[in-house]
Amino acid sequence: MTGSGLSVIQVRYGERVTRKSDVLHEYQQYGQPDGDLQMDYNFWVIRAPGTTILLDTGYDISARDWLGEISVMPTPDGLELLGIDPESVDMVITSHFHYDHIGYLGLFTNARVVSGRAEYDYWFRKWRNEDLDGEFTVAEHLEAVKKAEADGRLRLIGTQEEVYPGVIVHPVGGHCPGELIAEVYSASGPRILAADAAHFYEQVENEWPFFAFTSLTEMKAALSFINKLAAATGAEVIPGHDGRVRDTHPALPGPAGRIATVIG
Ligand SMILES: [Zn+2]
Repeated sequence: MTGSGLSVIQVRYGERVTRKSDVLHEYQQYGQPDGDLQMDYNFWVIRAPGTTILLDTGYDISARDWLGEISVMPTPDGLELLGIDPESVDMVITSHFHYDHIGYLGLFTNARVVSGRAEYDYWFRKWRNEDLDGEFTVAEHLEAVKKAEADGRLRLIGTQEEVYPGVIVHPVGGHCPGELIAEVYSASGPRILAADAAHFYEQVENEWPFFAFTSLTEMKAALSFINKLAAATGAEVIPGHDGRVRDTHPALPGPAGRIATVIG
């Protein structure tokens, strides 16, 4: 598949600095020095003429900074700066249901919502069983998924699917049971938006798992799958939370460049 005329930007709504040993699973086993990692909190905007698709939504850091996140710009303000009316967004793909990815899902009242079936099953079962305490997912955020379902706007994905021409989602699991990654054919070439299947470049390069997972085996398989897909398609892999993406990709021209990075 060649470029489909899609544009992809990454929007940074929050940040924090963490340590390799804090976020990479059993990092000491690799015998490498510890170090800081610039952890960005992002969502992604995929646009074609007349169509706006979001991958993830960010969350309201001012309401609760779960891990000491610092706000860069709240999602509603960021969308305004980018000239995107939330009600005009056509589709929101959720990589998974953690707080930092679906917190603002309720803003997008007209969007089709594309989520992993295993993600839905896992978190809604936990919600029904009142078993969300201590998780990175809260009932308040799941309400927006439920609303999309009640409106007939929810589409659950159990296997690889092209959800828009040039946008293919793949369920991978590992970090969460129904994690989705997006293979996107931008005008400048294919990209794999890995979201939390690979937070950092180190994880892609070495297939090192993140500390938070529902299945370590599936997380390793997901990292391996990302690399195989990248090799097969020639796609560039964009890890979901790595601040270094901004070192190798240009800021969007104009004021929005403060938050937006051109991915493809
Ligand atoms: Zn995340």
